[in-house]
Amino acid sequence: MDVHTPEQRSHNMTRIRGRDTKPEMLLRRGLHATGLRFRLHGKHLPGRPDLVFPRHSAVVMVHGCFWHGHECPMFRMPATRSEFWAAKIAANRARDLRAFEALRTSDWRVLTVWECAVRGPTRLPLTEVVSSSREFILSDESERVLQGAWGRTHDCEGASDKCAAG
Ligand code: ZN
Repeated sequence: MDVHTPEQRSHNMTRIRGRDTKPEMLLRRGLHATGLRFRLHGKHLPGRPDLVFPRHSAVVMVHGCFWHGHECPMFRMPATRSEFWAAKIAANRARDLRAFEALRTSDWRVLTVWECAVRGPTRLPLTEVVSSSREFILSDESERVLQGAWGRTHDCEGASDKCAAG
């Protein structure tokens, strides 16, 4: 028996469809579930960090790999109007750097989470992203960067012949 009115059902479906799978949302929900509380979009802070943890002097910036010009497999310069995109992305990167420096100058600790850490073929297990983020937030480290598994150095010890190509 369906106890929902058509209106309720439609509302529920909208909510389910609208459930946000963006990297920022995944991380946000994960951290919230561990009991950490934060503010969203620190409007008064340089770069408007996605998450702000005032008690821990920590902010989290979630960067889309394309818009923020990450040198990773998720970034591909568009074939058309590439000069326009290159200029736009360079401007974004310059702005990110200024924001980062301004945050550090004001003693904010900065965690940068790249999209490729949370989404796409090189993503890390979400639990790992959440626990590493949480560890940073509760630490006194000044900065940390999380990115996809493509960026991991692997241990070549004892296998140098296989690792010669990098
Ligand atoms: Zn990336």
